[in-house]
Amino acid sequence: MSYLVLARKWRPKKFSEVVGQQHVLRALINGLDQDRLHHAFLFAGTRGVGKTTLARILAKSLNCEQGVSSTPCGECQSCQEVDAGRFVDLIEVDAASRTKVDDTRELLDNVQYSPSRGRYKVYLIDEVHMLSTSSFNALLKTLEEPPPHVKFLFATTDPQKLPVTILSRCLQFNLRRLELEQISGHLANILQQEDIKFEVGALTELARSADGSMRDALSLLDQAISFGAGEVTDEHVHQMLGTINQHQLFHIVTALINHDGKALLEQAQELSAQGRDFISVLNALLALLQRLATVQLVPELEYSSDDEQQLLTSISTQISPETVQLLYQIALHGKRDLPLAADPKSGFEMTLLRMLSFQPKKSEPVTTATPVNKPVPTASPKVNPTVIAEEQVVSPVSYAPTVPASPKLSSQIAEPPQPPSIPTKPAPKIEQAIVDNQTASKTLNASNWLSVIGSLKLAAFSRQLADNSAFIKFEDNKVTLVIAPELAHLSSDKTQDRLATALGKYLGQTIKLVFQQEAQQDAVTATPTLAAERARQTQLSHQHAVDSIQNDPAVDELKQAFNGRVIETTIKPLD
Ligand SMILES: [Zn+2]
Repeated sequence: MSYLVLARKWRPKKFSEVVGQQHVLRALINGLDQDRLHHAFLFAGTRGVGKTTLARILAKSLNCEQGVSSTPCGECQSCQEVDAGRFVDLIEVDAASRTKVDDTRELLDNVQYSPSRGRYKVYLIDEVHMLSTSSFNALLKTLEEPPPHVKFLFATTDPQKLPVTILSRCLQFNLRRLELEQISGHLANILQQEDIKFEVGALTELARSADGSMRDALSLLDQAISFGAGEVTDEHVHQMLGTINQHQLFHIVTALINHDGKALLEQAQELSAQGRDFISVLNALLALLQRLATVQLVPELEYSSDDEQQLLTSISTQISPETVQLLYQIALHGKRDLPLAADPKSGFEMTLLRMLSFQPKKSEPVTTATPVNKPVPTASPKVNPTVIAEEQVVSPVSYAPTVPASPKLSSQIAEPPQPPSIPTKPAPKIEQAIVDNQTASKTLNASNWLSVIGSLKLAAFSRQLADNSAFIKFEDNKVTLVIAPELAHLSSDKTQDRLATALGKYLGQTIKLVFQQEAQQDAVTATPTLAAERARQTQLSHQHAVDSIQNDPAVDELKQAFNGRVIETTIKPLD
């Protein structure tokens, strides 16, 4: 039953077998080979990244009976005892359980004595930040004048809690979390040598769950082998971890793109029946959306496996980068709110439905830079061919700006209004009136004044004069107008002359302009000017836009989801 002890069996015995942490290895190997090794090292890093493993190899390197080197023989008694964890001169201490000053003093009292078997005593003090202040003081004395036969290896997950006096006497290394690929690659290597069947996706999933810790990964691998009765398959690993497989994940995204609410809820039901953990499902969805956004925005960067990359590329052309961002936010908030939901499944479903309500319905061909017809793998270890076939027939969706949710215009629009869109300004009545006017008889009165003025070809100041003049009457060949006193400067011989010429051309007769004086300024309020009418229209159309936004249920949902508010002055009617 060798697979039950993988972590122990495959613990690296040489520096060359250690996965990752190359920066630390290089320093240790150089120091050993040049016989200039610092006397105290501080390894900062999370659990399971190789601190103890490094300490053991170092102890072997220093005490191998063949001599000090970075490549201990592994055969001599010292090497074998270290490997077996019973070498007397490797002293491992867990400070978390040994904080009393007496313990530390007892430990440090022994420091001065020569090693009993080897050349060096190697002290590995784990979670060194947990030592008491007096223990630190005792330790500091030793570090100030270290006996030549002693090496200290301190490990901590929280280096900031260490006194500066200790820190300054150590060579500090920050051990890194292992990369996903480093872990999955190592697992694959082990399984190949153990002759155990596996699926690559399963190892990726185990590595993801291990979150940078090789020890956790190996422990999970042991469990997975037991769970799968000697095989490591995607399905078993997903069942074991309660995670979702890529196949299901792509189904969800495809259903969203296709606006297929039924398929979406069926997926939720299936996940629930399989006992998946919805938090980890949302995590997986977040990870997928992040990869999707990367493929869309930084297409030259290929960091997924080929098959996944191609699937992502294929999907990325069917959904806008903005929508991906929005879906990501919704998933993130869905995860945050999941514990507050009546039950996890309904919380998850609500998150999917929220995504659905923000995903534009497919209608027009998509317009993106990337071609849709990218080749898609014919076989894939992660996604079966059926899924790929389905991905291929997904119709392109449109994410062109959707048509306004304006109630007045809705009858002209086949599609229901889609959030989040901003209503356009209703078709200007003025222009409509102009069109009518062109077929009507050429006359001038209070009701056609605005449209006639709007249709005249005028430039600069004469246009200003026309726009700000109110109509009073048109009798014989005389047009009587009034302009507000504060705008009287617009009226000069030149501008009056040009306006009169344009009006005359329109009416087909020579006309004379008469501007009434201030005494009749009441008339200005009684008869609108084109400028006033335009201002009123702008105001109306802004109000209309504000109303549409404020009454839009989708906007309401956005406000609630993101705890936001609409700043009315930023709402602009579309032209
Ligand atoms: Zn040896």
